[in-house]
Amino acid sequence: MQFRKLSEYFERLEATPSRLEMTDLLSGLFKEANANEIEKIIYLCQGQLAPAYMQIDVGMGEKFVMEALSKVSGYTREEIEKLFKELGDLGLVAEKVSGKKRQSALFSAELTVLKVYENLMKISKASGTGSQEAKIKLLAELLNSAKPVEAKYLVRIPLQNLRLGVGDPTIMDAFAINFIGELRKNKKIMQEIEKELKETKEEKRNEEIERRLKFRLREMIEDKYNVRPDLGNVAKLLKQKGLDGLREIDIEPGIPIRPSLAERLPSSEEIIRKIGKCACEAKYDGFRIAVHKKGNEILLFSRRQENMTSMFPEIIEAARRQINAKDAILEGEALAVNEQTGEYFPFQITMQRKRKYDIAEKAEEYPLKLFVFDLLYRDGKNLMNLPFSERRRELDKIIKKGDAIELTKSIITDSPKEMEKFFEDSISKGLEGIIAKDLNAKYIAGARKFAWIKLKRSYRGALEDSVDVVILGYYKGKGLRTEFGLGALLSGVYDEKEDKFRTLAKVGSGFTEEGMVEMKKMLDKIKRGNKPARVDSLLEPDVWVEPKYVIEARADEITKSPMHTAGRNEKDTDGYALRFPRMIKLRTDRKAEEATTVKEIIDMYKLQKRVKTEDVGTDAA
Ligand code: ATP
Repeated sequence: MQFRKLSEYFERLEATPSRLEMTDLLSGLFKEANANEIEKIIYLCQGQLAPAYMQIDVGMGEKFVMEALSKVSGYTREEIEKLFKELGDLGLVAEKVSGKKRQSALFSAELTVLKVYENLMKISKASGTGSQEAKIKLLAELLNSAKPVEAKYLVRIPLQNLRLGVGDPTIMDAFAINFIGELRKNKKIMQEIEKELKETKEEKRNEEIERRLKFRLREMIEDKYNVRPDLGNVAKLLKQKGLDGLREIDIEPGIPIRPSLAERLPSSEEIIRKIGKCACEAKYDGFRIAVHKKGNEILLFSRRQENMTSMFPEIIEAARRQINAKDAILEGEALAVNEQTGEYFPFQITMQRKRKYDIAEKAEEYPLKLFVFDLLYRDGKNLMNLPFSERRRELDKIIKKGDAIELTKSIITDSPKEMEKFFEDSISKGLEGIIAKDLNAKYIAGARKFAWIKLKRSYRGALEDSVDVVILGYYKGKGLRTEFGLGALLSGVYDEKEDKFRTLAKVGSGFTEEGMVEMKKMLDKIKRGNKPARVDSLLEPDVWVEPKYVIEARADEITKSPMHTAGRNEKDTDGYALRFPRMIKLRTDRKAEEATTVKEIIDMYKLQKRVKTEDVGTDAA
C-alpha cells in the first residue's frame, strides 16, 4: 500500500466525529491492506511500531524533527519554529512546508507503507553517538519524498502525537465487521442465534442476526487480545487464515497478558451471598507483577504490560531459585517490607522501586517481597481455564521456600464472621483490605468480574475510594486563574461497551500553581479543534484534548446529574457526577482506556447508597 493511501485514511479518521464511521473506515482499511503489510498498518494506526509491551520507542524530540523539516524544505530553523508557534502542531507545519518546498527533492519516490515502517524502525533502533544525526537523516529521507498529507503523519508518529483517536476496541470492532460473512457459515453458531431469536419479528431478524454475529466475533477477538495484546498479530492471522487464525493465539511465556481485575462489594455478607464459600486473601498495597519464566530467562511485566525486568533484580534471582518449573507464568503483588520489623512499608515507599536509575542501591534499601496469588501457565500447559482452587494448589506446589517470594496469606471460608476477622487482621497489619476469590472461577483476563471481589475499609464511609478519570478538555479559568490559562479540567470515565469516554466531573481543585502551568503545557500538545469522536459530552470546554491523560481524583460522593453523560441512558436522562472533585495526582501508569469505567461508577453509586442506608439502620435491600 502506498503511504499516501494510509495517510488519507488517517486524515479521514482524524476528521470524523463519529465512532461508527471510524469503525467503517478501519474496516475498509483492513480490507484494502495485504497480509504482508496489515500488521504494520495496525501498529501505525495505534501510533506505534510493535505491540506496546515490546516497548519499541520511535520517539524523537521536537528539536530534531524541526531539524529534519528544515533540511528538506529549505525553510530555516527559525522559520519552522515560528510556524510551530503559530500552528501549535509540527504535523501541520510539515504539511504546510511540504506543499511549498523551496528546494526540489533529489531522489523523490512514491513512499510505501513498508518503506516508511522500515525507516521508522531504524529510527527507533539508532543509539549511541551520532544517533540523533542518523535519526534526522532517516526522517528527512522520508519527508523528502512525502506529499503534504504524508508529511503531516510522518512527523506526528515520532512525536508520539498521531491524533487519530482510535482505541483498541474500535480496531477490534472493525475486524469483527469483516468476518460476519465467515461466521454466518458456522452452522452451530447460527443455530444458537436462531434459537435466541425465536420470538423476534421477521423484518428485524436479519439485522439482529448481524448484530449478534458481530458481538460474538468481537468477543472471540477480544478473548485472544486479552492473552496476547497485539492487534497487529491478530490482524495478520485473520488476514492469512480467517477466523481459524485466531486458534493460533495462546498464552505464552514472554508475552504479557491483560490482567484480571476485581469487583467491589461493601460487606463480607454480600460477598458470601454472591460467590459462596471462597478463598479470602490479604490485599497487599504494592504493584502487580507478572513473572514469566522461560527456562533460565525471567521476565517481569507490570499490570499495564510494561517490561520491568531490569527494575527488580532480587525478584529475578528469587524466581530462579524459588520457582520449581521450567516454564511458568505467575502473578503476584510486590511490596517493600521492612526486614528489621517484618512490617510492610506504605505504598509511597514501595513506589520508589519503580525507577530506571540507582536500582541496586534502592533494592538494598527497600527490598521487595513478591506475594504470589495465581498461576496461569506451567510447562507447556495453559492453566487459565482451571478453577481457581486448582490453580492455587498448583501454585503451592511449585513455589519453594525462600526469602523474596511467598504465597499470599489466604483462608477458605463461608462464614461472614470469619471473613470479617480476616479483614480486620489484614487492616491492622497495614494492608488495604481483602480480595475474595471464587474457588470455581477461571482466570478471566482483561476484565473486572465477580471472580475476584475486593473489600476495603473505605467502602464503609463516604466515597473514600478514588476514581481515575480521563482529561477530555479544559476551561481557561477566571479570576486569579486567568494567568495560568487553566481553570478546570473536564474529565470523564470509560464506557467499555461503546469504547467511548463520558463526562463525570469538572475538576477545578487540587492543583498547585506549578502543577497548573505544567498541566496546560501538556494538554496543549494534544489539543483538538473539535470534540474527539469517542467523547460523549453535553458540556463544551474551552479546549478539547485527545483523551490520553488519566488523573486520580477524590470526591465527597457520587451524585446524579443532568449535566454529565456517564451512565446516562434513554430511560433515565440523568448521568452521574462527582461532588466536590479534587485532583490527587496524574496517573502516568494508566492509559485512557484503563480509567475507571462507567459501570464501576454505577456500582460505586449503588454501594454508596447502600452504605448510607445501612448507616441509618434501615434495610439496604
Ligand atoms: P486499586 O485502585 O484498588 O489499586 P486496581 O484497579 O488497581 O485497584 P483492583 O481491581 O482494585 O485493581 O484490585 C486488584 C489489584 O489488587 C490487583 O491488580 C493487584 O495489584 C492487587 N492485589 C493485592 N493483593 C492481591 C491479591 N491477594 N490477589 C489479587 N490481587 C491483589
